[in-house]
Amino acid sequence: MRSRQRAFSAVMRLFLKCLRVGRRRRFRLVRQAQQLWRYGHLCLRSLLYNSFTNSDVLLDSLFEPIYWLVDHVTRWFGVVFVALVITLTSSIVVIVYICLLPLILQTYPLGWICWHLTYGHWNLLMIVFHYSMAITTPPGHPPQAKSNAVAVSICRKCISPKPARTHHCSICNRCVLKMDHHCPWLNNCVGHYNHRYFFSFCLFMTMGCMYCSISGWAMFREAYATIETYYQTPPPTFSFRQRAFHKSIVYLWVLCSSVALALGALTLWHAALITRGETSIERHINKKERQRLQKKGQVFQNPYSHGAWANWKVFLGVDTHSHWITRVLLPSTHLPHGTGLSWELPLCRTEPRAPLLAL
Ligand SMILES: [Zn+2]
Ligand SMILES: [Zn+2]
Repeated sequence: MRSRQRAFSAVMRLFLKCLRVGRRRRFRLVRQAQQLWRYGHLCLRSLLYNSFTNSDVLLDSLFEPIYWLVDHVTRWFGVVFVALVITLTSSIVVIVYICLLPLILQTYPLGWICWHLTYGHWNLLMIVFHYSMAITTPPGHPPQAKSNAVAVSICRKCISPKPARTHHCSICNRCVLKMDHHCPWLNNCVGHYNHRYFFSFCLFMTMGCMYCSISGWAMFREAYATIETYYQTPPPTFSFRQRAFHKSIVYLWVLCSSVALALGALTLWHAALITRGETSIERHINKKERQRLQKKGQVFQNPYSHGAWANWKVFLGVDTHSHWITRVLLPSTHLPHGTGLSWELPLCRTEPRAPLLAL
């Protein structure tokens, strides 16, 4: 009886001991989990703490994956777009040489033949030259090393000084001097050093497309009317060569007139910007500033505009009368005025005034 009582009390003691150990271990685990949570929370708050955080930063952070996707897709599509421009332009040139030129040589008077040969080849040369220069010339970037250039702000992405008119391109992932825009058709940014090449390419391509559309109008009407007869019964007997000729003429005219309209509108828009001495980005900044000052009864003045005519001369790099021929009407690799790091302000605007806009 006594031995049974002793065994029972021993079991009870063991059970109580196990219970105490289990509770102690559970408490230790809870304490460790609490410490881990507090540590993680502190780490997260330390990492995310920013006294400049506001709703814009929060929205930017939320949209960051979408920006990343768009930037990468645009970068990849840039190569496809450049290949497309080269392929389509080459196809038009081939059609002109095979279909249009023999007809011009056979049917046109000598004066018209000379005009078509001279103008067509000059226009083609200008398109090829300006496109190749626009895609291969870097737009210009602020220097990486320490320099004396005046910076107006700090780029949040590059964490480096940003000169006036410089903007960060998220596709190139670099700051670009006098950035206009990132052009997927060039797979390059349009900035200080290749802005003229970009505009000249747009202008000469529009002129070339208009030239082909106007020159090929009569042939297009004839070819289109002939194609419509393909489906008559009995069907007309055209050879493969004749059918290919008709379809090539229709393709040439439709493509050239469409590009002439679309690119013509873009060229006019850029011409208006150049006349005002603005870039595409500054257009938006200046518009807001103009509205802000208008509410205060003040008039906005673009600090980088020298006047319409002077703006064109600065943009094209025309210093003498002969430059209109050698630098505008002929292929030229002259550099633009200035380094793109600092800007010469018009004389009448160098006196003390409100802080510079369009930074
Ligand atoms: Zn930057
Ligand atoms: Zn870019």
